[in-house]
Amino acid sequence: MEFVNLCRTISKEITSIMTSSKQKGINLGQEIGIGADGEPTYKIDALAEDIAIELIEKTDFHGKIITEERGIIQIGTSEETIWLDPIDGSRNAYRNIPYYALSIALYQKSSFKNGFVQNLANGDEFLGYNGNVTLNRKPVKTILRPLHKVGMIAIRPETKRGFQFLHYIQEYINFIRIMGAAALDIAYITSGAVDAFLDLERGLKTVDYAAAQPLLELAGGVVSDLQGQSISLQEDLTARVTMLASSNPKIHSKLLDRLQDFILTT
Ligand SMILES: [Mg+2]
Repeated sequence: MEFVNLCRTISKEITSIMTSSKQKGINLGQEIGIGADGEPTYKIDALAEDIAIELIEKTDFHGKIITEERGIIQIGTSEETIWLDPIDGSRNAYRNIPYYALSIALYQKSSFKNGFVQNLANGDEFLGYNGNVTLNRKPVKTILRPLHKVGMIAIRPETKRGFQFLHYIQEYINFIRIMGAAALDIAYITSGAVDAFLDLERGLKTVDYAAAQPLLELAGGVVSDLQGQSISLQEDLTARVTMLASSNPKIHSKLLDRLQDFILTT
């Protein structure tokens, strides 16, 4: 199996079925059931996942495919695992907001081999391959901005408490964005477009970060839970982890400090 070509083919096929479905007037936002992750499956998720799995099955891949909707698919007995999120940011995708991604990661047992995160709306392709990270085929490295000016943080507030935290950190952060596709938020830190990502409450599924997290770490970024502990892969698709991801260790420890202050004082 040639990882990069496979990912690019899956991406092309998903994009083309989305375009033709929209032309036919198919409602891609229709809820058609509950996925293995315990969350609603939209028409767009099912279509994209079916294509992706079909294309993987046509290769000589042996191992496990772990996907958001269908769960675990075992093909043969190898210790390789593909973590697949065919559409990260489904709501953006079916509402025509150009910020949604395909995320694919290949692991040997629990060690990362290759990862691919692509913004399907504009084609931005983040690739982690042979220890290097590229954006649109050019090497990337995270940026260290001055500590007093953390430029932009992507965040996923869920409840009143999450929004309180936004208020709490606003004096330290220049720009806060809620963009709606976590894999992309994390991937864009590798190129310096975003400085940090925070999921304070709802928690991410492993399919959301299996590709983006190691890409960011390879590019010089830092990822941990809110206590600063490292995050591991969870084969239980309903499991969630809170996450802080940053462009470098200085920003990471500063944000962790703010988080601890917030947790202790509110
Ligand atoms: Mg998804």
